[in-house]
Formats: sequence, structure tokens, C-alpha cells
Amino acid sequence: MSQIAGTVYLIGAGPGDPGLLTLRGRQRLGQADVVIYDYLVNSRILQFARPNADLQCLGRHGQGRLVTQDEIHQRMIAAARAGKTVARLKGGDPAIFGRTTEELAALDAANIPYEVVPGITSAQAASAYAGIPLTHRDASSCVAFVTGQQCLDHERPLDMAGLAQFPGTLVFYMGVTSAPRWSAELIAHGKPRDTPVGIVRRASWPQQQTLVTTLGELATVLAPGKVRPPAVVIVGEAVAERAATDWFAMRPLAAKTILVTRPIEQSEGLVAALSDLGAAVLVQPAIEIGPPRDWTAADRAIQELPTFDWLVFSSANGVRYFLERLRHHHLDLRALGRSKIAAIGPGTADALAEFHLRADLLPVEYRAESLAESLAPLSGGRRVLLLRASRGREVLAELLAAAGADVEQAVVYESRDVAAPDPEIAAALRAGAIDWVTVTSSAIAKSLVAMFGADLSRTRLAAISPLTGGVLEAAGCTVATLAEPYTTAGVVDAILADSRR
Ligand code: SAH
Repeated sequence: MSQIAGTVYLIGAGPGDPGLLTLRGRQRLGQADVVIYDYLVNSRILQFARPNADLQCLGRHGQGRLVTQDEIHQRMIAAARAGKTVARLKGGDPAIFGRTTEELAALDAANIPYEVVPGITSAQAASAYAGIPLTHRDASSCVAFVTGQQCLDHERPLDMAGLAQFPGTLVFYMGVTSAPRWSAELIAHGKPRDTPVGIVRRASWPQQQTLVTTLGELATVLAPGKVRPPAVVIVGEAVAERAATDWFAMRPLAAKTILVTRPIEQSEGLVAALSDLGAAVLVQPAIEIGPPRDWTAADRAIQELPTFDWLVFSSANGVRYFLERLRHHHLDLRALGRSKIAAIGPGTADALAEFHLRADLLPVEYRAESLAESLAPLSGGRRVLLLRASRGREVLAELLAAAGADVEQAVVYESRDVAAPDPEIAAALRAGAIDWVTVTSSAIAKSLVAMFGADLSRTRLAAISPLTGGVLEAAGCTVATLAEPYTTAGVVDAILADSRR
């Protein structure tokens, strides 16, 4: 059976910050059936892949087997021959110490079509995010990217005499462990010992670290075990021209590690907001969301939609699952007819707005009791449909029924507790290495207590509302801050305010 080969996109994923991926890179990644990525690629970039893409990590140096270069070629070729579109994500820029020529030669030999998408290389990210210029009007008119590994290679030794005379900035990649060796050789060939040196570790990641030293001190600063790769080492007079403000380290949540516990498909907004403020964000969903096991009640309600005066949504999930279900029945927004719509808060209203629906009613406070209070005077003798989660609270239905409404409830999605946390995250929490845990619903609070128990006392808890905070306190936890208003943006603001104190 002959098949048209898929295209391979070799994409520079940049140094870490997902925002440093190019628009073209994002577009091509979003088209891929198979994504083959290096360990140094930030996994947050994978959010731009298709939900059902086959994601293959090439493993971590020193941890288990590393996939050989030949195997990488074979994987790309096999997938492309099977007609798949392949994204081959490489850290930084594919052409800088990335073995791209070998990968392209293998694809050429196999007659596989390809495109290359450049990326921001680590040196550029280090320069921008640590304020160290690579060129400077007075101090440096040229730049060289150098591999620190080659000075250890006896068969193809690097021209260290030539490099010592290079009239500009040297940026060493893969040069941490070999630094004692190459710095000594540069000095032996006449490069001044007091030449300024900047070391930027994990450029553009929240864990970025910058050290400034001199060529003569470098062997001590980078003595074995002192600084872990990946880092670039920038050598030259331009380093002395470093900007006075370390804007990256001054971001308000820099150096904070924050755990986000929302369901995975809803976490990206909160992750992005916290990351943009400088935090290192970990994700451990406490609950999972899925379609209900039983659609009977929802389907019956959909048949009777024209009879309802109010549709009440208590979460963004409820909006999405309910409207998706309309589509399943080959219906569209017109099926909602004359019913008015109530939403519990702005997140739910935003989800409605995605479908071009406007909430007629939002409560003063974003919780069930307040919604019931606003809705009660409008719903006496009216038919009200609550579109809810499998384990939602009963209070809304009870209060509305007490106010004389004819209340129907339909479960439109299920939420389940995640059984066990990622062991690395559990260990980090136990070690006190997580500064904040965001708790954005009561269901999440309950699941977190079940998951982590007493270890929750080793972090600070930011709860979305007094109700959610109450669930934590009932379990013996201390709540460090409460959101106001009761939204995820409110959680971010509460953490910010506490950090400024
Ligand atoms: N193609 C990549 C380089 C691959 S070689 C690029 O263009 O950046 C791997 C080396 O890149 C590491 O040893 C380290 O020197 C550097 N590196 C990769 N990511 C880095 C980061 N976030 N910060 C500093 N150096 C990094």
C-alpha cells in the first residue's frame, strides 16, 4: 500500500519560556500527529499540540536510556512514511549544537519532505533575561557560540589559541563541567584572567540563576557539583556592561513555587497568569472532569427546554458540557428559546460568552447562596433548570425550591477525585519546596486533603472563597489567604498581595 509521506517539521522550541516559541513553530506543532521532543524542551509548550497527538519524549540525560541519534532518525522516518505529520521539537535553535544537519540528511536520504523553524537560542535568552549584552558598541563587535565539550575531544581539538584572540564575546554551550579545562586553556593562550564572565543557568525558566565572575575564578565557581547544567557561560568585556536592573528576577512572584490543582483542561489560564508573574508553576490536578455516566436527566431536560424560564449554570464546565450535548442532539442555541440564563460567577459568564450567550443574572458574591438570593425573587412559580456537576452542592436547589420555584436538576458533567499525586510533587510538598497551593473549589479542597493530608501544613494555601477555605479548615488546615472576589484571578491577586507584605 503506497502512502504519501507526511512532513517533518524541525522546530526550535526556544530555551524554556513557552512564550519564546515562534508563531510558525506553534502553528506547525499544532498540525502534528506525532511530537518527538528533547528533554530540555519545556513541556508547557506541548499545550500547543493537538489534544490527541502522540507525544514522545526522548528521555533525560543520566536517567535511563537515552535514545540514540539513529533511533531518532528512524522514528521520524517511520512516522512520516506512515503518513503522519511530525513535529521534531528541539531546545533553543535547531541549528545551534542541535545535530540538525544529521537529521536533515537522514530525511533527505529517505525522501521525506521537511521544514525547519528557527528558535531562540540559549545565548540570546540568557542575554535578554539576564541583561548581559552579547555585542556592545565599545566592548564587543562580534560573538562566537562555542561548545565546551570539544576541548575534551583529543581527535578534533578546538583552536583555543584562536579563541583566546577572538575580538568579541564568547558564549560557551555545554561548558559547565568542562569549564576548568577551557578557562585554563584560554588563560594559557593569553586571555586576561580578569575578563568578566557571566553564567546563566536555566535561562528564561523560573529557576533562572545568574552568576558574574572572572575567567580566572571560573574554575572555582564551576567546580564539580556547584552549578548544574544547563547553563551558558558568557565570556568577554560585554559582561561588564550588564544592565543595572535584573527585570526577570524582580518579577513579583519570582523564586516562588506554586502548585495549581485545577483539572488539567482548565489549568492553563491560571498557570499562565502565575508564570507571567515569575512563579515556577507545578500542576497536580486534584479532580478530573468528564461526561456524566448517565445523560438521562440532561437529555430529558433538553427535550423540555422550551418549558424552562431559567437555565442556571454553576460552572464553566457545566456550560461547555451542556452546549456540547445540544450539538450531540443536532440542536443549536435556538433550542434555548426564551429561557433566561443565570451564571454563578465571571468564569461561568466567560464560558457562556464563548458561545455568544450573555448571562442575564450574576450574583453579588460568586457562590450558591448569593445566586439563590438574587434568583429567588425572580423564580417563584417559574421552572428553573440547574445544570450541574455530579457532586455539586444541593443548597441552590433547596433555596430556590423554598422560594417557590419548580426546580429540575440535570447532571451535565462528572467530577472525580484524582486517586494519587505525582510522587515528585508529593515529595516536593513534604520537603517544604512548594510555597503556595491554589485551591479553586470545595471539591478540589476535599481531594487535596485526601491526597496530601498533613503535608498541606508545609505550604501556604490560597483558597478561592470562604466556603472552599472552610473545607480546608474543617480538615485542620490553615488557610493563608482568601480570594476576593471569588475567582481564579482573585486567587492570583491574593497570592500577590500576600507576597508583597
Ligand atoms: N540548540 C540549543 C543548544 C543545545 S546544546 C540552543 O540553541 O540553545 C545544549 C546546551 O544548551 C546546554 O549544555 C546549555 O549550554 C545550553 N542550554 C540549553 N538550554 C539552556 C537554558 N535554558 N539556559 C542556559 N543554557 C541552556
